[in-house]
Amino acid sequence: MKENLIDIEPEELVKGEKKLPPEDLARDLVPSDDLILRTELDEFDFKNPPVSPEYIAHVLAHSIIRYNGLGLACNQIGLPYRAFIVTGNPMLCMFNPRIVGESEEEVYLEEGCLTFPDLFIKIKRPEVVRVRFTMPNGQVDTRNFQGITARCIQHELDHLNGILFMDLATEYHLEQAKNKRKKIRRRNAK
Ligand SMILES: [Zn+2]
Repeated sequence: MKENLIDIEPEELVKGEKKLPPEDLARDLVPSDDLILRTELDEFDFKNPPVSPEYIAHVLAHSIIRYNGLGLACNQIGLPYRAFIVTGNPMLCMFNPRIVGESEEEVYLEEGCLTFPDLFIKIKRPEVVRVRFTMPNGQVDTRNFQGITARCIQHELDHLNGILFMDLATEYHLEQAKNKRKKIRRRNAK
């Protein structure tokens, strides 16, 4: 099966587009109070794409590398497209992702978010998810994910629905994370 690999030259992927210098593709994160982070993004229309999905994949890839993140959703960098990227080997860029199955077992894991630096919140979610998504080349795929990848996918999918991770945290865990953030920042300030 053809992977939605993005570790090849952008010129090869961005078919029909003019060549783009790779170093120009990364975009800045929007501020954490930007309303686009609270917006439920519309399905990406592959029949009539507003912009090349391969191009979006590259923008996400360059941006996540710049910020050294595990996952990044389009709205975090100000793009109103229903797509995100998660790191791994290869990176996976998913359009219109849908969770079509999940394990009964839920686990607590500490999550971070590029939009909220130094905030690591314990959140409970299913350990395994089955996800249907469209790859940048338009092919639809369904796969199971577990561990940190499953966690990232659930976090990023929430972004596409305008949901932020603190929405899901207990008051106690959010408080705990904020205290820890203070300590981290105090330590970094020294
Ligand atoms: Zn996030």
